[in-house]
Amino acid sequence: MQHNQNIEQTADILRLAVPKMTDLDIPITPENYAIWYDYFAETNLNLKRAIDGLIANQVVFTPSVNAGLYNRFIEERSPEIIENVQIETQILIKSLFNKIEEVTEGTSSFGENLHQFGSQLQQNPTAEELSGLVFNLVAEVDQVIATNAKMKTDLSALSEELFNLKDEMDNLSKVAMTDELTSLNNRRAYEAFALEQLTRFQDAQVDCCLLLIDIDHFKIFNDTYGHLIGDKVLAYVALALKNAVKGDDFVARYGGEEFIIMLPDTKIADALTVAEKLRERVCAKQLTIGKETKQNLGHITVSIGVAKFKTGDDLDTLLARADKQLYLAKSDGRNCVKYYQE
Ligand code: GH3
Ligand code: MG
Ligand code: MG
Repeated sequence: MQHNQNIEQTADILRLAVPKMTDLDIPITPENYAIWYDYFAETNLNLKRAIDGLIANQVVFTPSVNAGLYNRFIEERSPEIIENVQIETQILIKSLFNKIEEVTEGTSSFGENLHQFGSQLQQNPTAEELSGLVFNLVAEVDQVIATNAKMKTDLSALSEELFNLKDEMDNLSKVAMTDELTSLNNRRAYEAFALEQLTRFQDAQVDCCLLLIDIDHFKIFNDTYGHLIGDKVLAYVALALKNAVKGDDFVARYGGEEFIIMLPDTKIADALTVAEKLRERVCAKQLTIGKETKQNLGHITVSIGVAKFKTGDDLDTLLARADKQLYLAKSDGRNCVKYYQE
């Protein structure tokens, strides 16, 4: 219901935003669209004031003006909001798709394929599926271009527009899956990856292990050295984790000072070796800050809870087992790795 209301509201905004952007010669990219979506949704008064000022002063919306607006008002927003932009982009694709339908009326096989795309769009596809859909749509348009010279000009422009849109959506999708502070995968990315692994496990019983890593007494560290230095240490730990694993291993910031690593096709003995190596690496490092002053920050340590996939698991049960072991590691003095063999 909420979703339908959103779709209706975004469709209303689309009807206002697209003609206005066309009037002002602004390319309809997801980034520009995000700006103008906000403008008409009136959710960000500062953005609205800034744009009204630009219009009143007859400023031309050049690429750098558009980029400036995006950086100032949109980029700072959270991945959740960027995800909303993806919903809006979906509507935008739909309107392009309607345009294609108009242009190609009468081309029957193409019409059928378009009909299929239309119903796939209705099924609320994920960002990846949407990218795939746009890719197929572009291929389909290219096919028609090859067989129908009359439509060539109109459709090749649309095809290019769609292709750019796909690239930008891939970018947005990356942003929505990345933790800003550490550049690691974020929790949402982890959940998508873990779900895939869970399916693989259910199909083929392949080994897969999970490490839940939590920095010890990080509150005290923050209280002693300040949040900004705390943030730098989080980025350092992120890099250390990333460098300590290989290939298919998936490292993410789960939230706050907690990280998660999924190790596909890894036996528990090997996962425990990885965990121990990580723990040693982090605590061995003497942390300093400032190139010249080299303020000494001492050492930090991490506690790690380990779990492996078992039959009947879902993501919550798997995580709960790792979390229980993490809790035991904390109560056993921290700076250690715990795993319970059932
Ligand atoms: P424990 O060993 O039991 O895990 O103790 P702790 O202090 O690490 O755990 P607690 O959950 O009490 O506090 C977590 C702290 O992590 C609180 C907060 O100061 C810090 N933290 C969480 N997210 C961030 C962040 O993004 N930046 C910084 N600098 N600190 C953060
Ligand atoms: Mg914690
Ligand atoms: Mg902690």
